[in-house]
Amino acid sequence: MAATPEYDVLIVGAGPAGTACALGLAGSGLRVGLLDKAAFPRDKVCGDAIPGPTLRALARLNPRYAQELRELTQPHRTDVSCSRLVSPRGRELSVQWQAPAFNSPRLHFDEALLVLVRRHTATEVLENSPVKTLAATSVGVMVTLADGSTLSTRLVIGCDGANSAVGRCLVPHPLNRRRHCAAVRAYYQGVADAPETTSDFLFLRRYRAGYCWVFPVGNGLYNVGFGMLSEDIAREKVDLKQVLNELLATHPTLEPRFRQARRVSPLQGFGLPLGGARRPLTGFRVLLCGDAAALIDPLQGHGIDKAVISGMLAAEQARRCCQTQDFSPAFLQQYAQAVHQRLGRELRFRYRIMRLLARVPWLVEAAFRASQWAWLRRWLVRVVG
Ligand SMILES: Cc1cc2nc3c(=O)[nH]c(=O)nc-3n(C[C@H](O)[C@H](O)[C@H](O)COP(=O)(O)OP(=O)(O)OC[C@H]3O[C@@H](n4cnc5c(N)ncnc54)[C@H](O)[C@@H]3O)c2cc1C
Repeated sequence: MAATPEYDVLIVGAGPAGTACALGLAGSGLRVGLLDKAAFPRDKVCGDAIPGPTLRALARLNPRYAQELRELTQPHRTDVSCSRLVSPRGRELSVQWQAPAFNSPRLHFDEALLVLVRRHTATEVLENSPVKTLAATSVGVMVTLADGSTLSTRLVIGCDGANSAVGRCLVPHPLNRRRHCAAVRAYYQGVADAPETTSDFLFLRRYRAGYCWVFPVGNGLYNVGFGMLSEDIAREKVDLKQVLNELLATHPTLEPRFRQARRVSPLQGFGLPLGGARRPLTGFRVLLCGDAAALIDPLQGHGIDKAVISGMLAAEQARRCCQTQDFSPAFLQQYAQAVHQRLGRELRFRYRIMRLLARVPWLVEAAFRASQWAWLRRWLVRVVG
């Protein structure tokens, strides 16, 4: 490896975590590279619900980022103000949200984030660049791409999602099915009784620790999916695609809505590494963010906001490392502490609630019944929402 690595910081993965990290390094004067195996715009299997804290975090970095993101996603999003929840026994509950949130297909949302990076930073963006292996040396990290070419960096930030190559090579950690979900989703048109301002969540008697969703994403398109805990999928040998198709054809709430609907994309699946466990987020000259760090909300399956927040925290740590020339494992631990402080407590709490609801299914029904009292509903929405 050359004496001086060509990058100070190399961010692997240009999803929400990687782009937020690049934005966090704007104006740092560091040589920053952001590489992704895909060419953008690229699809990402997701529910496409952009949690409110995502834009709030970006706005704290620079108010223009949130404003420009709204403008860029305008043709491909819908603002959501209401959630409709259906209990396992069919009881319905509507929740009006005060905080602004929107749904937008990741094909367009992630492209908009990358536009912000190109507009506001001097980051070198490398698309079509799949990372194959990484190896730490005393002066940095050597990154080998699938075509055999290499890149060198003083610090690498793994933002490459649920199947992270960075994590596999530099911070290996076994898959824990108790803390992992899998889900499938497809896009539909022509869904009946589905206002563009309302996201639907359906909880099912047969499949605990999971739910089915119907999320409007604008332009008459709906993101429809189903996911559950990987431990249960393996134990009960569940075929998620088959279950979703059956639900749309037979579930009393869904069947009438999907009678005339048309699927307009393949039905695809992907993993969700859940947060709430203390797992290593750093290694030798490496930080992990977003799904690569397993930071998804165990209760709702939301991870975009956690990806953005952890990406920004990693950017702060990268600045500190380069300023002090300290890349030691002990110094990098500051990042892990910051993530645990900012997100860890909430994720642990929500993981415990998810396990409790899975173990004691009548609690879900009881919560729906209890929500007829406004004060209790407000409290439940605060806890679970
Ligand atoms: C079915 C499903 C539904 C979901 N629904 C929601 C939802 O509605 N709302 C929500 O907030 N969250 C949702 N999530 C979670 C959300 O998708 C993730 O938490 C979020 O995408 C994490 O962002 P990230 O930047 O960490 O990773 P990603 O968005 O996965 O981005 C990783 C990037 O790294 C690139 N990459 C991967 N490997 C390599 C490699 N070897 N070399 C180079 N580049 C590489 C990929 O191309 C990708 O661009 C859902 C997840 C699933 C699976």
